[in-house]
Amino acid sequence: MHTQLLIGPNFETGQETPEPILNPRTGGLILEVPEASTAQVDRAVAAARAAFDSWSRTTPAERSAVLLAIADRIEAEADAFASLEALNCGKPINAARNDEIPAIVDCFRYFAGAVRCMTGTVAGEYLSGHTSMIRRDPIGVIASIAPWNYPLMMMAWKLGPAIGGGNTVVFKPSEQTPLTALKLAHILADVLPEGVVNVIAGRGHTVGNHLINHPQVDMISLTGDVATGKKMLDAAAKTVKRTHLELGGKAPVVVFDDADIGAVVEGLRAFSFYNAGQDCTAACRVYAGKKIYENVVADLTAAASSIVLGDEDDTRNEIGPLISQRQRDRVASFVNRARELNHIHITTGGEAMDQGFYYKPTVVAGAKQDDEIVRREVFGPVVSVTPFSDVEEAVTWANDSDYGLASSVWTKDVGRAMATAARLRYGCTWINTHFMLTNEMPHGGLKQSGYGKDMSAYALEDYTVVRHVMVKHG
Ligand code: NAD
Repeated sequence: MHTQLLIGPNFETGQETPEPILNPRTGGLILEVPEASTAQVDRAVAAARAAFDSWSRTTPAERSAVLLAIADRIEAEADAFASLEALNCGKPINAARNDEIPAIVDCFRYFAGAVRCMTGTVAGEYLSGHTSMIRRDPIGVIASIAPWNYPLMMMAWKLGPAIGGGNTVVFKPSEQTPLTALKLAHILADVLPEGVVNVIAGRGHTVGNHLINHPQVDMISLTGDVATGKKMLDAAAKTVKRTHLELGGKAPVVVFDDADIGAVVEGLRAFSFYNAGQDCTAACRVYAGKKIYENVVADLTAAASSIVLGDEDDTRNEIGPLISQRQRDRVASFVNRARELNHIHITTGGEAMDQGFYYKPTVVAGAKQDDEIVRREVFGPVVSVTPFSDVEEAVTWANDSDYGLASSVWTKDVGRAMATAARLRYGCTWINTHFMLTNEMPHGGLKQSGYGKDMSAYALEDYTVVRHVMVKHG
């Protein structure tokens, strides 16, 4: 396993506190990764700065070739990457191998194509005697900071458009899940010129804080908590850095009385509990029409209790544990506070398991709009279900959230689906499904879920800047 940082052309051991990396299935120590010193962060930023001049002048075709090479190398080592991600995060091996790695490879391939196909306003004489043209140029040095729920995928979402757009990067994985990033660093060192991507490990309030406040950083890209996003904005204000923030979510799921209940329950079983609910788009806040409500609760309860987790044969597992004891305790405390309310009924789950950081898939029925469990992001395998009376109430409650990342509407009436989707204040609305992502389409939020898009041509726009060049004739 790799534990060294990539700074310029060199692999170096972190010079500061060793961070214990735990196996969430058992709670046992995998190994320790020493974090970067401030001097090492400074050198990583300097290496990215030094690499920028030549990397930013490469052609789209040259950058595309590098992105394709990264994709091929990850694909060639797919099993090793999947095993490492599964070990560090507790993900079932099948999820890591069959869901995540192909999407990660495809992300690099998507940006390899997209960077060669950017479009914009046509050049022309918008002022008589002058020709104007629009350029899209790289922004500079990007500080990229990732969370622990999808470590390698978040790295792909950030590196693809950043280096595809001609920027250079200092990447910091979560201190809890650095292993796949430190492995990918070896591939990056092989295929990229030195300094284009640097990978440093360490905690947020030490290494991350020094990085985002660095005056030589031009843009901060974070996927993380809302509170962390606000720290990015404070840091950015000092030298007017650009920011790209993908923060939390609390996705509403509006189920109308005419919905196909089998499809709803099958969908919720998959999309509420995937990755143990540690997903900012998780289908965690269900609003069900009054006629269908009792059936949704009963069938979802049965479906959630059938989810396989913690089996010795990992190929049978559908979800894994939470990332840490702290996260499991946090999830448990949300459920315990909800349980104290008379109107709430925990119909399944509601307890930790006696191994690692596992928590049982949980359904919280009878939740009301003002309950904490409906309003706050739990980030665990917990779904609340709330009955609604009519479409106005459903839309009002769905939108009544500080978050604005993802949502879904379930109905057989296409007109109602479209009308409801149009009114939802979320970066994405799925109809009769949830959670389905594709690299061609944008992912990003409204409200306190942040702004800026991952994946799609919109991400390339976010990681580049529009410039106007005007030529006077004669
Ligand atoms: P977090 O905000 O605690 O940490 C995210 C990253 O920020 C980590 O690398 C951490 O070290 C770093 N960080 C923390 N404090 C910092 C500081 N002061 N300065 C610089 N860096 C700092 O989030 P997490 O617990 O790792 O991840 C879970 C959160 O991420 C959830 O809220 C979830 O909703 C959100 N998330 C959002 C998306 C999305 O696309 N919107 C995707 C995945 C996760």
